[in-house]
Amino acid sequence: MKLGILGSGAVGRELATRLAEDGHDVVVGTRDPDATRARTAPDAMGFPPFSEWHAEHQHIHLVPFAEAAAHGGILVNATSGLGSVAALTAGGKAVQGKIVIDLANPLDFSSGFPPTLAPMAHGSLGETLQREFPEARVVKVLNTVNLAVMLRPELVGSGDHTLLMAGDDEGAKGEVRALLESFGWRDILDLGDISASRDTEAYVLLWLRMAGVVGHPKINIKVVR
Ligand code: NAP
Repeated sequence: MKLGILGSGAVGRELATRLAEDGHDVVVGTRDPDATRARTAPDAMGFPPFSEWHAEHQHIHLVPFAEAAAHGGILVNATSGLGSVAALTAGGKAVQGKIVIDLANPLDFSSGFPPTLAPMAHGSLGETLQREFPEARVVKVLNTVNLAVMLRPELVGSGDHTLLMAGDDEGAKGEVRALLESFGWRDILDLGDISASRDTEAYVLLWLRMAGVVGHPKINIKVVR
């Protein structure tokens, strides 16, 4: 499968690593490849600069957002929630008709930690992306778990926990479900249309609180039914 990952941060990199290991053809998108390669400082969360990761993963190409969007049959939005509309806009016409896995959260850290949810034009980031890019098939998922758990659900409770998903396009959700099952996800709860993004994005504030109390990010919820 060909995937374009929009986002050169820790999440985009880890996702690219896993997808490439699984035999997929992936590229990582960024605003300015030269500027991203030139960074030498860790990011705000302490993750090392892009170049350190890329030294070990040179087979995964770093390209401008537009090229990443054109590359993928499926796109992954792994950008900062506050930059996601700009990133997809940079993707141009290539975004049309594509499945967009939106795992971003519109968190505002301008007043420090814990963050607040930034107001979004259409209630949530997921809805905003679907409305701003009506030809895209947005699936909101993976935003409610830590990046390690996204790719290795077995790290928590032997994999017996719930991933929340939302989106308007049933076919897109089916394709994304199959990809997530290849990561080991067994309990994927479809919350319905993209308006459920406002619930899963708000939940992330509670997730941050719980991870802080527990003392590590390898946690998740199980919807017992
Ligand atoms: P991040 O620092 O949140 O975002 C980095 C990416 O956003 C970079 O590609 C950057 O572009 C792009 N970006 C930032 N501002 C932009 C703007 N104004 N216009 C266009 N693009 C912009 O990276 P991350 O920590 O890897 O997180 C990615 C997303 O995953 C976030 O939305 C986060 O909430 C979500 N998430 C994270 C976790 C986790 O465990 N960390 C779990 C679930 C969801 P450049 O490449 O040009 O710098």
